[in-house]
Amino acid sequence: MVNKTYQVAIVGGGMVGAALACMLADKNVNVVLIDAGDPMATWPDDSYDLRVSALTLSSINLFKSLGIWDDIVEIGEQAVEKMFVWDHFGGGELDIDSADAGEPQMGSVVENRITVLALWKKLQSLECCDLLTSTTLDDYQADDNGVEIALSNGKQLNASLLVGADGSNSKIRQISGIENYGWEYQQKALVATVKPEKSHQNTAWQRFLPEGPLALLPIRDGLISIVWTSTTETTEANLKLDETSFCDALAEASEQQLGNFELLGARGAFPLKLQFSPEYTQQRMVLIGDAIHTIHPLAGQGANLGLTDAIALAEVVLQANEKGRDIASQQVLRRYERQRKGDNLLMMGLMDGFKRLYGADDTLVPIARNMGMGIVNSSMLIKNQICKYAMGL
Ligand SMILES: Cc1cc2nc3c(=O)[nH]c(=O)nc-3n(C[C@H](O)[C@H](O)[C@H](O)COP(=O)(O)OP(=O)(O)OC[C@H]3O[C@@H](n4cnc5c(N)ncnc54)[C@H](O)[C@@H]3O)c2cc1C
Repeated sequence: MVNKTYQVAIVGGGMVGAALACMLADKNVNVVLIDAGDPMATWPDDSYDLRVSALTLSSINLFKSLGIWDDIVEIGEQAVEKMFVWDHFGGGELDIDSADAGEPQMGSVVENRITVLALWKKLQSLECCDLLTSTTLDDYQADDNGVEIALSNGKQLNASLLVGADGSNSKIRQISGIENYGWEYQQKALVATVKPEKSHQNTAWQRFLPEGPLALLPIRDGLISIVWTSTTETTEANLKLDETSFCDALAEASEQQLGNFELLGARGAFPLKLQFSPEYTQQRMVLIGDAIHTIHPLAGQGANLGLTDAIALAEVVLQANEKGRDIASQQVLRRYERQRKGDNLLMMGLMDGFKRLYGADDTLVPIARNMGMGIVNSSMLIKNQICKYAMGL
């Protein structure tokens, strides 16, 4: 028996699904957002989320337009004003300052749980939105008239449109049979929060090491969130080091740019993969965010890409709704797919190319890489373009 009918059912209330729900419910589209976890659960004041995202200015502008940016800033955001990138081989380095591009900041680093909490709090205040936590989608069936969705709590919902924002292992993608291509990088990203001896200077630091990049991202309270990519074996070994040895290894890997470190809390690790789907939609169903593309985190673009998907999908759905048309017709959903596919594939290709360029250590590649960085670093014009790209403008 169907318990309730909605215009849009969104499965996955991470940053991307929750942002889409906000954009739609804000414009009186009747939405249900379903998540396996509880994004509104509170946490101890002195704890830090291991999952952080460097948000571009265009993602920040989205949150401003939804009226939640002030909440995010209040809980804890860190502006990034500069970027410093250097290579383990030779003296290649690149320093970019947003002030040179006429902007006060390039973006901000925010713990994922803070952004998600701010979005869910806004959703709680919207009449057009129902929120279901600790609930998963078990199955769905679509036909010309709508989608029937079976939930883990035994309830059934009906919707005109089903959105899969359920991350890289998307169950909706699996049920739909939409193909998923890609490869494992045989690398893992070690994540941790550390207190640096020296100030982080509102700068995102990134050193390219033989096994992968080490990113030191500034976060609230003067702390650093690290994303340290290495082979699976090295990452496993670094996870097992005692705290002092781990901090020593980190100081050495970062060439003491920020001095020594103190580890705060636990370390975690994510296996890295590249994954993409050639199709974004099927009858009355559409995928967004990591459910259709998972990229290497080296330039911190995954969430930003997903948010751009959400903006594009909201736009076509709202347009159809305003005109009284079927919001889930293939005409509407394919328009979203066409808008996003090129951009997503370009970013995936770029990140994969960078990963290979900086992973290559045969004689000529590191020399060419260093020369390239030197040329870029001496050109204000190119640096400003990179800065604008990093801002998502
Ligand atoms: C180490 C690392 C560092 C990164 N750094 C950055 C960065 O600096 N900047 C950036 O832009 N990106 C970064 N990314 C990528 C970014 O984290 C992801 O692209 C982003 O979180 C994807 O958001 P999403 O909402 O699509 O998916 P997710 O964040 O994975 O959210 C999916 C949601 O769906 C729910 N869910 C899953 N299955 C079901 C189900 N069956 N039923 C109901 N709910 C379900 C989950 O509970 C979850 O809340 C990084 C990634 C990694 C691994």
